[in-house]
Amino acid sequence: MAWESSPPSRTRILVVEDEPSIADNIVYALESEGFMPQVSATGSDALKKFEQNEWALVILDVGLPDLSGFEVCRRMLASKNVPVIFLTARGQEVDRVVGLELGADDYVVKPFSPRELTARVRAVLRRAGGRSESAPQMSANANSAAPLVVDGERCVVRYYGQTLQLPRYEFRLLQALAAHPGRVFTRSQLMDRASDEPEAAMERTVDAHVKSLRAALKTVKPDVDPIQTHRGMGYSLIEDWSAIMK
Ligand code: CA
Repeated sequence: MAWESSPPSRTRILVVEDEPSIADNIVYALESEGFMPQVSATGSDALKKFEQNEWALVILDVGLPDLSGFEVCRRMLASKNVPVIFLTARGQEVDRVVGLELGADDYVVKPFSPRELTARVRAVLRRAGGRSESAPQMSANANSAAPLVVDGERCVVRYYGQTLQLPRYEFRLLQALAAHPGRVFTRSQLMDRASDEPEAAMERTVDAHVKSLRAALKTVKPDVDPIQTHRGMGYSLIEDWSAIMK
């Protein structure tokens, strides 16, 4: 296949779906919104296409004929950070949790309307803000009004105008959260991103470090807590600062 005249990666979407009629509907809906979808009907073909190109987003059916969508997601995200939306069958509530655990950005339950799916695609792309291209190191928070700037190059945090020195683990924890405001990270995802020795880390360690990170942020602004706890899921950084800024 020739890719020389391929469209810009920001519009390219990989659709992994083995049911031709569903795949056709998705392709039609995406194309009419100006996206350039490509379909894979199997997990192994999807993994091949995923590596061959840059993608803005992957739409991934959980039930594929060869590999499970979860396994495909795991392998994809191990090599590149691209937003993933899972397609799950009705009644698979557990899929939602598993999918988010794996780092998926959203999920859509079948049957869905094409408009619902394209709305989710746009929302996820907006949130991801081009992280599949070069992830911004400076001012990782896309919200320019946000009082938090994580400078990955200087390992410095500016918070409400003050420079904060954080221990390495806390810094990397905050950096991970700030790279995707609003996204819920599980403890194990945070552990992976913040720790160099995953085998030595325990999920409770994340709680302890979140606690000391909160304490550090409170030294600057005692009445603000921008880190949200999601029971049974994990943590996220606040997306809409106006909600907590008085
Ligand atoms: Ca299927």
